[in-house]
Amino acid sequence: MKIGFIGLGNMGAHMARNLAAAGHEVTGFDVAGVTVDGVRNVNSSVAAVKTADAIITMLPNGQILRSVAAEIIPVLSPNACFIDCSTVDVDSARRLAADWPLSVDAPVSGGIGGADAGTLTFMAGGSDAAFAIAAPLFEIMGQKSVHCGASGAGQAAKICNNMILGATMIVTCEAFALADKLGLDRQKMFDVVSTSSGYSWSMNAYCPAPGIGPESPSDNDYQPGFAAELMLKDLRLSQQAAEAVGAATPIGQHATKLYQQFVEDEDGLGKDFSAMLPRFSKLNR
Ligand code: NAD
Repeated sequence: MKIGFIGLGNMGAHMARNLAAAGHEVTGFDVAGVTVDGVRNVNSSVAAVKTADAIITMLPNGQILRSVAAEIIPVLSPNACFIDCSTVDVDSARRLAADWPLSVDAPVSGGIGGADAGTLTFMAGGSDAAFAIAAPLFEIMGQKSVHCGASGAGQAAKICNNMILGATMIVTCEAFALADKLGLDRQKMFDVVSTSSGYSWSMNAYCPAPGIGPESPSDNDYQPGFAAELMLKDLRLSQQAAEAVGAATPIGQHATKLYQQFVEDEDGLGKDFSAMLPRFSKLNR
């Protein structure tokens, strides 16, 4: 396939490289002038997508996606499939589908490591026809894709998942800080919770306490991993969506407030989102 790839950042560069390595003809563009092995670099979005069978975008936010889409849609081939893998608001995803019906919103989970290894999970929204074109590409860049429903359903799944993740990480961290103050050994706490009803991905796979559980960013001085500011971005998207549809999400709302405080008023910027544990350790009721 001829693929036009726009946004060759931390995630996109790996994804484009994996597509090229699998034999696709990938043309790439990034405003930062990034170059990627095996990808033919051009100097505009339009040049990247002209004659492409599939367009993939991996951009920072919905506003940038909308401006890139407005620029490239007029030059797309009629049967080109527009696959947006960025994490953006549900509304931007639906607007893209209104402007270009053969489109898929397909945000990912798995982080930079997953993008590099080609083991991402894709959660996709769009028509069956669009998903059928995108699915073989998801297989190269990832290990799983779920067709969640119509346009916007991929973004909806992503923000619901990450709202759960943000909230469980916070409560796991505050529970460790409470356990410390109660004199409960952290390893014992892990041994019990990871095999009891309090278990979660945050505790079992990504334990925020250094030296405990499988290796995670806490073992590397909380270098991300998944940065606190990216968690804040996703939590804000969840709250924007909740407001738009009138859904009550009190815990998600509070988690958003805590990550905002951590990133904007404290020292959370640039740290992994599990660095909430040292944050709570410093606090008293
Ligand atoms: P990034 O900032 O590293 O990459 C975005 C790239 O887009 C940058 O290289 C930037 O120069 C480029 N860009 C910005 N405006 C552009 C334009 N108008 N035209 C062309 N290129 C443009 O971000 P990332 O970490 O690669 O994340 C990309 C998306 O994936 C985000 O929406 C993020 O929320 C989501 N995501 C990231 C992770 C992660 O762990 N990093 C995990 C899951 C999802």
